[in-house]
Amino acid sequence: MKRICCLFFLIFISAVVTAQPVKRPKLVVGIVVDQMRWDYLYRYYDRYEATGGFKRMLNEGFSCENTFINYIPSYTAIGHTTVFTGSVPALHGIAGNNWIDQATGKNVYCTDDSTVQGVGSNSSAGKMSPRNLLATTITDELRLATNFQSKVIGVSLKDRASILPAGHNPTGAFWFDDANGDFITSTWYMKELPKWVKDFNDKDEPTKLLSSPWTTLYPINTYKQSTADDVKWEGKFKGETTTAFPHNLAELYKTDKDVIRTSPYGNTLTLNFAKAAIEGNNLGGGTATDFLTINCASTDYVGHKYGPNSIEIEDVYLRLDKELGAFYKYLDQKLGKGNYLVFLTADHGAAHAINFMKEYKMPAEFLELKKITTSLNDALKAQFGAEKIVLSNTNYQINFNKKVIRDQKLDYDAIKKASLKFLKDVPELQFVIDVENIGAEPVPEVVKQMTINGYNNKRSGTIQLIPYPAWFEGGYGGTGTTHGTWNPHDTHIPLVWMGWGIKPGKSNREVYMTDIAPPVAALLRIQMPNAAIGKPITEVTQ
Ligand code: ZN
Repeated sequence: MKRICCLFFLIFISAVVTAQPVKRPKLVVGIVVDQMRWDYLYRYYDRYEATGGFKRMLNEGFSCENTFINYIPSYTAIGHTTVFTGSVPALHGIAGNNWIDQATGKNVYCTDDSTVQGVGSNSSAGKMSPRNLLATTITDELRLATNFQSKVIGVSLKDRASILPAGHNPTGAFWFDDANGDFITSTWYMKELPKWVKDFNDKDEPTKLLSSPWTTLYPINTYKQSTADDVKWEGKFKGETTTAFPHNLAELYKTDKDVIRTSPYGNTLTLNFAKAAIEGNNLGGGTATDFLTINCASTDYVGHKYGPNSIEIEDVYLRLDKELGAFYKYLDQKLGKGNYLVFLTADHGAAHAINFMKEYKMPAEFLELKKITTSLNDALKAQFGAEKIVLSNTNYQINFNKKVIRDQKLDYDAIKKASLKFLKDVPELQFVIDVENIGAEPVPEVVKQMTINGYNNKRSGTIQLIPYPAWFEGGYGGTGTTHGTWNPHDTHIPLVWMGWGIKPGKSNREVYMTDIAPPVAALLRIQMPNAAIGKPITEVTQ
């Protein structure tokens, strides 16, 4: 009798336990800091505030110290897509910020969509959607899992960094329009801007944020991690005679709205807009888990202009740290500490500026891709008798002009063979890979795998160029820096988790950008995105 009672008791207890609803956080906040190299967590660590965002995440959260991008090219649109799909360009289809459609030879911008109109804008900046994204995102999966009760909002100054993380069917995705200085969206999502967006735009925050010059947050002589302020490898704003502080942008903003992007105030504006999104949509206040994706893009614009060794980039990170700290405090008050889950990562890193490297006797050089393409076309013309057989050199990939080859009945295999032979003799290129025959190429395994993952057979060029480690396309008038290669400066990214379900700690195990969406799915008890190849990082969960 006693045993039977025990059994009934156990059945009763298990019924009570199983009656508990699935535990989920109120809100997930996925933050992508554009162009944030992993080492920035520590380069400025001593200067981050105890109450700031980065130190708090490292101390209270879990840091995956060896997180790598596992494809090339390492560009913004792909980075954001990979973080939120757990997949790679070969599968999710976002093969660059731009790519060449291999069937038509057309240059495609990742989020361009001629079938939609801007909402809040008449400029071409509004004709955007996630149409080219072939896989679901973790945000899509959350919407699917809760029968669309979860609210999902994407926020960024950049269209691609708002649209791609938010997925195909979010509550909204909003980005900044340089034509009118407003946050806008497109008819893919809605017919009219919500009231909270209109109210935000009416405040004209950009003008207020830029009303006084950008000076350093702390006395300039305390910026010991950076080189001198006026150096030849940094860029200038229009009208500036020096690259040094202060940067007075108020006048310039009246005609060039995009200047706010290349200042710390672009991040301030983004985080203020993110807060408005939380308030305007009551994110985290419903019965289902909501998801907010935020891209802080000014780190990227400032990085491109000044490079990783500038006082400007140090200042942008010190300010962002402070602002993220305040943002988390706001979330604590709004939703309760521990009730929301945050992860912070980057879409790619950046190389040191080439002239900076040369100044300090490090190997680096400008790579002139256009010149290489022109001489390749000249060589192919001499051999095959046709003009412009190579269409472009996009994403460090050679795109052949399939139409010319078809129309003039040229031998594609012979052209490819001749191109490989020509390119392998170009001194600035370390490897030239025939991606369709990659198994036969004597390339280190890591680079080979990254090439395969990054190669989308409908959207990528068939010959992949691998330059020397710090050789890259100069652009930016020979100043500043860029990214896009396989090298650790471009592909070693931060990944820090904090809040709901996260165990504090640190791991040195090597994980990949594709391993971010799967643990989010595991924590939320929802399906992984449908092209995810990553594995859950089990150490981060409680
Ligand atoms: Zn980026």
